[in-house]
Amino acid sequence: MDRRKKMEEMFRLQERLNDDTNGPKWRDGMTKQGKVVNWKRCIVMETAELIESFPWKHWKNIEGGIDLENVKIEMVDIWHFVMSYLLRFLPVKEAAKLALETMKESGIRVPESWSEADKGRLDELLAPFEDLMALALVKDDSPAYRVELLEQFWTCVDAVGMDFDELYRLYIGKNALNQFRQKHGYKEGTYRKIWNGREDNVVMQEILAQNPDITYDALMEKLEEAYDALGNG
Ligand code: MG
Ligand code: MG
Repeated sequence: MDRRKKMEEMFRLQERLNDDTNGPKWRDGMTKQGKVVNWKRCIVMETAELIESFPWKHWKNIEGGIDLENVKIEMVDIWHFVMSYLLRFLPVKEAAKLALETMKESGIRVPESWSEADKGRLDELLAPFEDLMALALVKDDSPAYRVELLEQFWTCVDAVGMDFDELYRLYIGKNALNQFRQKHGYKEGTYRKIWNGREDNVVMQEILAQNPDITYDALMEKLEEAYDALGNG
């Protein structure tokens, strides 16, 4: 699958998720339960969660390291909200096109493991994320602003050492697992999270690792097969 198709698929999935969870009026800024929707605040707060994965506190855990795995998870959380924000203004295909056109690289690369030298350059390492946060706090929704926000998002993706395919895999994996759990009785309490001694999330990661180019529907099918094999069919 090419990049354009993958990008459009993510925007389509996000649109469906928003329609399902918030009702049809989320673009106007209100959920079906009458709650205000503010995607840019969501971006700010998820970016704060990302920063919490760094040992930034000068008064605590002085020898602590970085949780890069969680940094990537928070990047995917941010991506949910960046896409949702764009979908307020643009239909899926146009939003996907803009997202593809704005990809950028970063001069910063977050280290995989924390070293003594990194301690002294924390501000430099956090700069791309704090820039994203600052942008998300600006009261502007113009087309030029949206481009700027997207460019900064991609800068952050690059800074954490993710490529587009990894972002795609993590995004569809999270989305698929949520849908799968709901379909199989998560709310009702009948869902089995442990599959042959392993968490469903781990099984899903394995399917993704073995099939790096998998589509959303094919991933769902493989999850069904694995779940059925446990005698849940
Ligand atoms: Mg978190
Ligand atoms: Mg989060």
